[in-house]
Amino acid sequence: MASYNLFLLPGDGIGPEVMKEVEAIIAWFNAQGIARFETDHGLVGGTAYDTHGQAISEADMAKAMASDAVLFGAVGGPKWEKVPYEVRPEAGLLRLRKDLGLFANLRPAICYPALADASSLKREVVEGLDILIVRELTGGVYFGEPKTITDLGNGQKRGIDTQVYETYEIERISRVAFELARTRRKKVSSAEKRNVMKTGVLWNEVVTRVHAAEYPDIQLEHVLADNCAMQLVRWPKQYDVIVTDNLFGDVLSDVAAMLTGSLGMLPSASLGAPDQKTGRRKSLYEPVHGSAPDIAGTGAANPIAMIASFGMALRYSLGLGEWADKLDQAIAAVLAKGIRTRDIAGGQPANATTTQMGAAILTELKALAV
Ligand code: NAD
Repeated sequence: MASYNLFLLPGDGIGPEVMKEVEAIIAWFNAQGIARFETDHGLVGGTAYDTHGQAISEADMAKAMASDAVLFGAVGGPKWEKVPYEVRPEAGLLRLRKDLGLFANLRPAICYPALADASSLKREVVEGLDILIVRELTGGVYFGEPKTITDLGNGQKRGIDTQVYETYEIERISRVAFELARTRRKKVSSAEKRNVMKTGVLWNEVVTRVHAAEYPDIQLEHVLADNCAMQLVRWPKQYDVIVTDNLFGDVLSDVAAMLTGSLGMLPSASLGAPDQKTGRRKSLYEPVHGSAPDIAGTGAANPIAMIASFGMALRYSLGLGEWADKLDQAIAAVLAKGIRTRDIAGGQPANATTTQMGAAILTELKALAV
């Protein structure tokens, strides 16, 4: 039986509450002998600052580096708003992304039939939606130099951000997109602004070359990023995998996210380069939402985003895609039965707490296992 090391970083606010529901599922996998998951826990964000004076300790960084997958809850909250910038809660997540070399951010947007009416778009536009946005995460305008604000001395200032991409960065992110498309509906849409940006011209050129040389079985289309935003709200089902840069990916993945309803439903994965010897990628799985201090401790948090993030770990890091499918089916079944935390109750009172939602999903999973 395969054995895997999972490093759990629950973090702050609702992070530990939603992580507990994943731990119950992990315990069940172990008890059933489906896999052997060794779990270890660390501190990140505000709780790490309170204990170590850092957003993540060196010891926990070392454990994250050595793990098969990191499961991350959420960080931040009003308690830590005034801590020094270098040790603010988010610094822990940024350090993990940087040191693990997590250049590919995967955000699926799936619309469960039972939640189609929770979308701001019409049911027929979103029902059955299943798209995947692959965003470049470590390059582009968020990191490019120079990045400055200069006082021009005449009452004016000049702000500069630099959008910069090199060939290897575009090659590796497009390969991730093409590989993932192979496991799905075999279509990649590459979004950039080649009409006005040099990085867009290079992006288009490199994606086209990688496709022709290595992935002729995949359908590739190029779309201008602004048109992509429009198409996402017009007819999102035309897409399968969308690959794009850091800035456009930030915006497009949020647009796609809202097609599906609540923040409490949205998982994500971040992947690094494959190890030269083992082929395994460093990886981190986390819900898209934050620490939700407004509902922390009330039992109102929806654990689905965290549970679905674990599902992505099963699929992309742990070689258990069949169980990832079953977990998705269990979530769909619970939703179809009308079980709702407050965020997905459509203005009605919730009929499930965090723990009850987690337990209901585990019950469905058990039923699917027999
Ligand atoms: P948030 O995502 O924490 O919450 C936004 C709204 O969505 C809140 O009303 C919250 O109650 C609700 N919500 C979020 N997740 C939910 C869930 N699972 N179930 C039910 N409702 C849910 O964003 P925010 O309020 O802007 O930020 C709160 C804190 O989280 C801040 O300190 C922020 O910096 C941090 N944050 C962290 C991350 C991260 O850890 N990756 C991401 C975003 C924000």
